[in-house]
Amino acid sequence: MKCSHATKLLSEAEERQLTGRERLRLRFHVFVCTACRRFKKQLGLLRLLLTEASPKILAAVYASDATLSASRRQEIKALLRRAAEES
Ligand SMILES: [Zn+2]
Repeated sequence: MKCSHATKLLSEAEERQLTGRERLRLRFHVFVCTACRRFKKQLGLLRLLLTEASPKILAAVYASDATLSASRRQEIKALLRRAAEES
């Protein structure tokens, strides 16, 4: 399976039930491929942000703009990292 196919399936898995064969091949690909593993994690984080993120995290994300200070950026990064680890 190519990475392009794997990422497509990972996105589609949000909207439809993958077939048994798709799930199996995808699981194997994600197991051996660092890039797709990272993509999968980011996808999970994105979903978390869109659905169950704490008000604190959402506030931090909304507060971010082009004029974001370095310390604020670090703070948000830390929050996101914690959220990703908890999920
Ligand atoms: Zn891949």
